[in-house]
Amino acid sequence: MNKQVALVFLPSDSGVDGARSIYSEESVSGPLRWFNGTVRNLIKKTQFAIPPLALMILASVEAPGVEQTICDLRFEPFPFDRTWDLVGISVQTGMAAKAFALAGELRAKGIPVVLGGAHVTLFADSCRPHADVLAIGEADDLWGKLLKDLVDGTLKPEYRTETPPDLSRPRPVVKTSLQKNRYFTTNLVQTGRGCPYRCDFCNVHVLNGHTLRQRRIGDLVDEIRRFREDDRRIFFFVDDSINADPAFALELFTRLEPLGIRWFGQATTALGQQPRLLDAFTRSGCQALLVGIESIETASRDAHRKTQNRSDELAGNIKAIRQSGISLYGSFIYGLDGDTLDTPAAILDFIADTRLDVPGINILRPNPGTKVFDRLREEGRLLFDPDDLASFRYTFGQEMLYRPKNIPLPDFIASYSELTRKVFNTGNAIRRGMEAPSIKPAVLLFNLFYAHLYSLSRHDLRQQLERLD
Ligand code: SF4
Repeated sequence: MNKQVALVFLPSDSGVDGARSIYSEESVSGPLRWFNGTVRNLIKKTQFAIPPLALMILASVEAPGVEQTICDLRFEPFPFDRTWDLVGISVQTGMAAKAFALAGELRAKGIPVVLGGAHVTLFADSCRPHADVLAIGEADDLWGKLLKDLVDGTLKPEYRTETPPDLSRPRPVVKTSLQKNRYFTTNLVQTGRGCPYRCDFCNVHVLNGHTLRQRRIGDLVDEIRRFREDDRRIFFFVDDSINADPAFALELFTRLEPLGIRWFGQATTALGQQPRLLDAFTRSGCQALLVGIESIETASRDAHRKTQNRSDELAGNIKAIRQSGISLYGSFIYGLDGDTLDTPAAILDFIADTRLDVPGINILRPNPGTKVFDRLREEGRLLFDPDDLASFRYTFGQEMLYRPKNIPLPDFIASYSELTRKVFNTGNAIRRGMEAPSIKPAVLLFNLFYAHLYSLSRHDLRQQLERLD
């Protein structure tokens, strides 16, 4: 009888996993609550629900005598009715309290729990009391050892990755543990890990290091060919900057051209100045890219070490990418340390000038483990208890977690709300959908969903301010 291992992915409180008020869902009227629930399900089905790649990678590790199952709790409650020999929970900061509660329930039933993921890697000590086993660091290599020890009955309390896994070794990802029809697509591909930059609000470089570790191009092409046989839907390259190494990206996407796939990815706006690579992107089927603009204020970019693109080149680059036929999701953060009450007008002008297809207007989230978290804590600007890691949570712009540097909190919330009201409305959604260089229906849908999600953001920020008064 094989050992049964469950790999658990937890839903977040709001945003991509749902549309709900974090402050007063109960006080929302019945019809509106029904509407929120309907939109929540629609968002999951049509836009955002992609499988958890980290768990797909672990489930692909072969271990004799072990059967692994992914339990995606965005779609189902944990299957307590089955017999489990080990349950692994992926813990993100912001969902730690939920993860610990589930771990407690499982352990009370005598089921051993292994906790892993970003939060465990950054804050192992705080996780230790909640687990039988901790998996610390990127788990690609240690997972096989851990499963073997499970079979041998020699599980240890801690498995730690001392050196980041060598991704140039073949590591084929298989999807047998996924229920494919739940997801928008199952064609998730990661070409490498690590980031050479050091933006202070990001923990990618903290977790995965500053050196780019890439998979072999031949392995990637084989994997994409194999995935395509099994799921003809769109591909999603999950790398934070798919053009971080332009020569690698040029070779990869040139070799993908004959496969005839369509794909989304994430890139830096520098792509607008890389004409050969841009051409390879469009020829290989690139439909849309997410670009992290973060800020158009030079003072804010300097304050947060966002150094890789010059603000005076951003607009030109974005226009060049859109002209090539690729739709763009441009992500901003308002409330950075160089921002003032004049920043929203500059963001509005920038969106109008570049005709961004889907703007994302975020509030800074000082994620524990990032440099900006440490700095805001030292400056006494955090609005949550920095020693209670469970009090940090992810929301869709629904909660201020710090005091902006140059703008009093009530004025900031008023100006942020005004900005999102102007950016997201039905008229803009229809216009952006019609003007998008590609995937027009998806651009329309995204903008309509955002009109709804940002109305929740305004509602919750108002509620938060009342409570803070
Ligand atoms: S925000 Fe992007 S560019 Fe900056 S450190 Fe993170 S992954 Fe790298």
